[in-house]
Amino acid sequence: MTNVYEIVERVQFGPATFLQEVAAPDVAQACEPGHFVMVRIDETGERIPLTIADFDRDAGTVTIVVQAVGKTTFQMMELRRGDTLLDFIGPLGLASQIERRGKVVLVGGGLGVAPIFPQLRRHKEIGSGTIAIVGFRSKEQMFWNDRFAEFADDLRIATDDGSFGVKGFVTVVLEQVLAEQPDVEEVIAIGPLPMMRACAEVSRPFAIPTVVSLNSIMVDGTGMCGSCRVSVNGKMRFACVDGPDFDGHGVDFGELALRMRRFEYEEKGCMARYETERARLRQLGAGGENPAVVPARTRAFNLLDVPVPVAKPEPEGPRTPRKVTEVAPTRTPMRQQPAEVRVCNFDEVALGYGLESALLEADRCIQCKKPKCIEGCPVQIDIPGFVGALQRKDIEASYRILKSSNALPAVCGRVCPQEIQCEATCVVGKKREPVAVGRLERFVADFAAGRGWDTRPDTAPTGRRVAIVGSGPAGLACAGDLARAGVDVTVYEALHVAGGVLKYGIPEFRLPNDTIDIEIEGLEALGVRFVLDHIIGKIFTIPQLISDMGYDAVFVGTGAGSPKFMGIPGEASNGVVSANEFLTRVNLMQGFRQPLYDTPVGMGHRVAVVGAGNTAMDACRVALRMGAEKVFLVYRRTEKESPARAEELHHAIEEGVECLWLTNPTGVLGNEDGWVTGLEVIDMELGEPDESGRAAPIPKLGTEHVLDVDMVIPALGTSANPVIAQTTAGLSVTPRGYIEVDPDTQMTSVPGVFAGGDIVTGSATVILAMGAGRRAAAGILGYLGLAPTESKEPAFAGA
Ligand code: FAD
Repeated sequence: MTNVYEIVERVQFGPATFLQEVAAPDVAQACEPGHFVMVRIDETGERIPLTIADFDRDAGTVTIVVQAVGKTTFQMMELRRGDTLLDFIGPLGLASQIERRGKVVLVGGGLGVAPIFPQLRRHKEIGSGTIAIVGFRSKEQMFWNDRFAEFADDLRIATDDGSFGVKGFVTVVLEQVLAEQPDVEEVIAIGPLPMMRACAEVSRPFAIPTVVSLNSIMVDGTGMCGSCRVSVNGKMRFACVDGPDFDGHGVDFGELALRMRRFEYEEKGCMARYETERARLRQLGAGGENPAVVPARTRAFNLLDVPVPVAKPEPEGPRTPRKVTEVAPTRTPMRQQPAEVRVCNFDEVALGYGLESALLEADRCIQCKKPKCIEGCPVQIDIPGFVGALQRKDIEASYRILKSSNALPAVCGRVCPQEIQCEATCVVGKKREPVAVGRLERFVADFAAGRGWDTRPDTAPTGRRVAIVGSGPAGLACAGDLARAGVDVTVYEALHVAGGVLKYGIPEFRLPNDTIDIEIEGLEALGVRFVLDHIIGKIFTIPQLISDMGYDAVFVGTGAGSPKFMGIPGEASNGVVSANEFLTRVNLMQGFRQPLYDTPVGMGHRVAVVGAGNTAMDACRVALRMGAEKVFLVYRRTEKESPARAEELHHAIEEGVECLWLTNPTGVLGNEDGWVTGLEVIDMELGEPDESGRAAPIPKLGTEHVLDVDMVIPALGTSANPVIAQTTAGLSVTPRGYIEVDPDTQMTSVPGVFAGGDIVTGSATVILAMGAGRRAAAGILGYLGLAPTESKEPAFAGA
């Protein structure tokens, strides 16, 4: 499942500038000038954006030129030919719009010199008149003069110290050129932000369109974090989705300059630690390797030590239900970490049932003649069946029943909102506390882990190939059913891990990564291939998957991963971080393990989380664990309307989150350094139901007040990432960008392309996404002329 990207060439240009040519054939094929890549060196490393300086499609290589400025780039500088990079994700961003110009000026300064080169070459190829201005600190730092000279009609070089060419910055030369040559049609500037800002100011009086490349402000590169937001001509734009090229005259560089200082403190600390530790390692004669030591991760099957009980035989004949009054009135309690302990760690909060508690709780199920719980479950699990088997202590049979309709029971047992699904319709629940179906589901799945109870289906290969785009619950469920039916399945995932929101969004204290990894390993055992670091729509398009790569069908389960912001004044301030970005930094990039891991989190002391869904609860609880002194949950409706799972809200309050119901943000206050100093809010009251069917929140004028916070985390839901729709001709989407499908088969408007999960419904739930994935699998089998899955065998082969 791991990709490896070998450095096939390396050149040192100056004390801190170097070139690496990396073997990445798929990226090289799809590259265009203006694209960038995200690079991660090793397991503990940060993802950093680097603009592509050159590419060779025949050799399958991509060239990056890097200036060592922080820990990651210094570490990169130590890599030699033959070494490898762990992740090399691209090509990202929109390619530069290069049109033939009578005369174009290309300005590259510092780390922008190399990235300007492919644009220069392309301009020359299409017949533009080219003037190149490149700037270095000194003669010793110069590189590629010969390459620039080959493609520039007029090459001008500037050095800060005057050791070569014009003494001074590139802007001095640009000013001269524009004054001398009135027929320049466009200026393209790439380099440090102050340089691009200065170039835009030089060209402004001449009214010459000026393009700047903002790749350096990106964090994630896929559009999921919203950190690269930038005001351009007064509108919020995202560098990795809408850019990185923007109109230099419209970019708010002042705002960006402040944003770039966001992680200054953490980055300086990280670099200082790195230098100290390297010096220490050198003294010990251990070389200069990455000093971070990755903690060994142990997989805890805490139930594996429990012997499998001897099962009673299945009773013959119809069920004989008990009376509700015969069962214990309250649910069997589940062990959990006390609030004051768990708020200081990232370990799982709910510890699950042991065998004895599970049997006790299972005994509360009366085995109704007409069970209502099944109707409450979105995937119609045979709940009385699996609980009945548990009552007989036949845990293997119970597991098989569960898995026949739920691909991820250990996940759903932990994160499904059971209180509004199966437990809401439980007949016992009419008079007593409902049976704790979720806890039992989790127990059975955890008990089964590692016991080899999943069977590998004996299905002959069909010779058909299907590509799945996205490895969230929808993609995993679809992959499992198809693989079982003998289809050759490849899952393409944009990130460096598989699992979707289950991995990058939901924190480990709610859903340990092991739980997901077990399911993924089960899929691999079935023959499913996972290709990570591949963003479909960028590296390959869906039409390419079908026409060039020979897939018979494609399933799109890309989720709804783009964050929403509040649209209020001050939102660009440092300290306003989307919940997606915050959770990704902590969960996916393991920011909570800093300094062992490099990704900074940028934690505030007093935090306001806006919203009241599961994402908001996760953000609040992570903020507390990251050391926030105070966390407010700000929600414009009441607790009753909160869409979060009841247990998460309850846990958040127990841990110390202060909920401000009927409160809505109206503005973010900041200081002159651009940091958040407060959140202005207004009290609300509820009016008549709005289009969502919920009571509409109405502001109570005159009640504005300020919350004393230094960090604001909008957790307002997510929206569709446009990449797939933009690159798939004929794909029908709703006005909000969600993919339209046939509800029975999940087929989209493009024959052979299916979709399901959040990318169709908008942000929903794990179980609904899985249900859609399974429906799509049946639809795909029908489309391919293969019988849809009929067997009620487990959907996944076991670990
Ligand atoms: P996702 O899980 O979003 O997975 C999509 C995957 O596709 C991602 O891995 C993404 O990287 C990948 N991808 C995107 N674009 C591309 C591309 N172009 N090429 C390749 N790969 C791509 N639901 C619950 O039921 N209970 C909860 O407690 C709960 N808590 C949540 C907490 C948080 C913080 C969040 C954000 C959501 C939560 N949800 C919860 C909702 C639930 O997680 C989602 O509804 C579910 O994960 C959607 O599944 P999916 O497969 O459609 O998409």
